[in-house]
This record gives sequence, C-alpha cells and structure tokens, in this order.
Amino acid sequence: MQQQAENLIKVLKSKGLRVTPQRFSVYANLLTRFDHPTADQILSDLNHQAPTSSQATVYSALQALREVGLVREVLLEEGVCRYDANVDRHHHFRCRCCGAIKDIPWDTFESVGLNRLPSGMQAESYEVTVHGICDRCQ
Ligand SMILES: [Zn+2]
Ligand SMILES: [Zn+2]
Repeated sequence: MQQQAENLIKVLKSKGLRVTPQRFSVYANLLTRFDHPTADQILSDLNHQAPTSSQATVYSALQALREVGLVREVLLEEGVCRYDANVDRHHHFRCRCCGAIKDIPWDTFESVGLNRLPSGMQAESYEVTVHGICDRCQ
C-alpha cells in the first residue's frame, strides 16, 4: 500500500499537479473501482473512510485530475456525469436494468468506417456504447 501510494504521488507530480490530500484520495478511490462512479458516490465513499471531504473539494479534485488527463468524464445518461480512471481508449456497456457501466476493450470491435461519414462531418473521436442487460440482471 505504501508503495502504491508513492507511485500514485509520482503520477500526480509527473502531471504537474500539486498533491493535495483530496486529489490523492479521489484518484486513489477511482483507481480501485471500475463502476464509473458519480462525484457523489466518490464523496460518500471517502466520507465513509474519514468524514472530511466536501462536495466542493471532490469536484475540484476531479476537475484538476481531468484537466491533466488522469481521469475522464463518462456521459452515458442525460444529466449524469460519471468518472473513469481508465483513460485508455475503450468502449462502454450499460445495463438498462441496474444502470451498471462496464468497460469494453477497444479492440473488441472492428474499426468503424469514419471515412464514410456524410460530408461536412469531421470526426475527432468516437466510442461505442452498447446497451443491454448485465449478467446480474439476466
Ligand atoms: Zn444490470
Ligand atoms: Zn470506462
């Protein structure tokens, strides 16, 4: 754990971020989970361990981590912003029953024919969202 903490501090510093307890604990929390939590879910997790974080500090830590590319937003539901510490290209699966979101490896699908887009559309990025039912809900 000590080793992990040191690595984490190194990563934060390598991005030019000042390491604050909030940034550290928010990033550490995100790295241990794969459920794409909302800021509120991260907050309640952190406060469960030690009730010191506020919504504002969690949001600003997420903002800082996002700006340096360590964390990305995942917007799969209207008005709900989730966070992901997996910043490698990947797709998502979303269960329509329980709302669980899971990662799908990038190379799962053949490449998409972006060169066949209608004219006037210049593609910069894309990802696939698969909607369905997860194994727990089947
Ligand atoms: Zn489900
Ligand atoms: Zn993801």
